Amino acid sequence: MKQKENGTWVSWNENLKHNYKNLYNITKESELQEVIANNDKIRFFGNKQSSADIAAGTDTLLDMKSYNKIVSYDYSKKTITVQSGVILGDLLEAIEKVGWCIPCLPDINTITIGGALATGTHGTSGKLLSEYISSFRLILADGSVQEIDSADELMNAVKVSLGMLGVFSEITFQCETEYTLHVKERPESDKEWLPKIKDRLKQHDFLRILWLPHTSKGYVITGDKIDKDKEITVNNGPKYLKHRRTASKILYKYSHKFPWITAIANKILAKAFFSSKKEHKGSLYQATVTKSRGSTLELAEWTVGLDKFPQVFAELKQEINKWSNNSFIHIPMDVRFVQKDDAWLSYAYKEDIVTMGCVSRNAATADTYEAFKSVEKIFLKHGGRPHWGKRFAAKDAELSKIYPKWEDFKELRSDLDPTNKFLNPYLAKLVNAKKTVHAKKVVA
Ligand SMILES: Cc1cc2nc3c(=O)[nH]c(=O)nc-3n(C[C@H](O)[C@H](O)[C@H](O)COP(=O)(O)OP(=O)(O)OC[C@H]3O[C@@H](n4cnc5c(N)ncnc54)[C@H](O)[C@@H]3O)c2cc1C
Repeated sequence: MKQKENGTWVSWNENLKHNYKNLYNITKESELQEVIANNDKIRFFGNKQSSADIAAGTDTLLDMKSYNKIVSYDYSKKTITVQSGVILGDLLEAIEKVGWCIPCLPDINTITIGGALATGTHGTSGKLLSEYISSFRLILADGSVQEIDSADELMNAVKVSLGMLGVFSEITFQCETEYTLHVKERPESDKEWLPKIKDRLKQHDFLRILWLPHTSKGYVITGDKIDKDKEITVNNGPKYLKHRRTASKILYKYSHKFPWITAIANKILAKAFFSSKKEHKGSLYQATVTKSRGSTLELAEWTVGLDKFPQVFAELKQEINKWSNNSFIHIPMDVRFVQKDDAWLSYAYKEDIVTMGCVSRNAATADTYEAFKSVEKIFLKHGGRPHWGKRFAAKDAELSKIYPKWEDFKELRSDLDPTNKFLNPYLAKLVNAKKTVHAKKVVA
């Protein structure tokens, strides 16, 4: 295990920076146990791609990215076991090679599995990634290992828990047989796509809407399972579409100084990049997941019950179209759909939900991006829940109203981590933790 001393931890978009005293590169479970048992305050990180301040801010840090082996396959059960620092793209390539898939994927493949699970990472038209776990090994605050599977009542508490209950070590995923999606993309006015959501969720295997704020339009992406050999008419749209993110960056360059520029930029971007129809086919991973990012950004994302979404959407649209409040929003707001589950801190706890992303293409000026505040205000008013890995201001008081299991989670957290070893200042505020005296257990 390599160790570095006295350095600065910096998040991928450079919005978060923290000094540390000791940084350990984990390569084995025994190292994970040893460092956890022998240190008072610890956080651990994957690819540092979260916007929320949840991955560092303690004297001791664990870099999980070298703990990244594919451990084993069980071909009869279609399960794969991996170390938690494995990059999602590597896991997906490994399972595609044996003809399997995980049927709901986020729009990014560079994140680690541990980071993705801890923050409730999700895709669309399925469940949170954590719902495809069948078992895992968790390292607790005293350095011991607990094996947890679907029959264990801790499963629903730990699956999505921001690394506050322990650190994921090895994780086993239940995969499915790989399938081919026929993907179709087209622009639609808000009047068209909004009332069709429920029907489309029944009709299609994949649904995602890139909403284009300040244009009254959305870009609808549907996918249907087809035989992999079925011929389709491929249409990838004009070649210049690949320059969308660069064009956005240029058009939004001064939008932090003159927020209204965004409304004009969005109209130009919608016309240039979201007005053509497209059609293609491929696996869920190959046909829908973004494989590379040219530049950084800052993200917020809110979720709300499927039935409440039309009302929330109407209020949001009214608010951001006011011009008086500077809540202009960069393109696109990603609208996705997640099916209900039982994980205590899941956005979809016991209800089907809609998730709505909010992006600032200029990460460095995100503090002055008024849209983050307006979106939070409206979603919170309707009982909406923030994405754990993204930017939001809500704390314990608000979270206790929107998560039915919030108090149970806090109680369990204090039991499993009585010295608050796994809390950095941001997480301590989130769960309103009481200050504790540290006790140290030494593992030989
Ligand atoms: C461009 C972009 C696109 C995104 N797209 C999506 C999307 O489509 N859907 C979605 O839901 N989210 C999305 N996200 C959010 C992203 O999935 C999460 O922020 C994820 O946590 C990032 O993974 P990471 O490896 O960078 O984790 P980090 O940011 O390094 O860590 C995140 C959290 O996980 C904890 N953690 C890390 N490893 C472990 C472990 N082994 N055990 C326990 N806890 C651990 C850390 O302490 C921290 O609290 C996106 C983010 C970006 C930047």
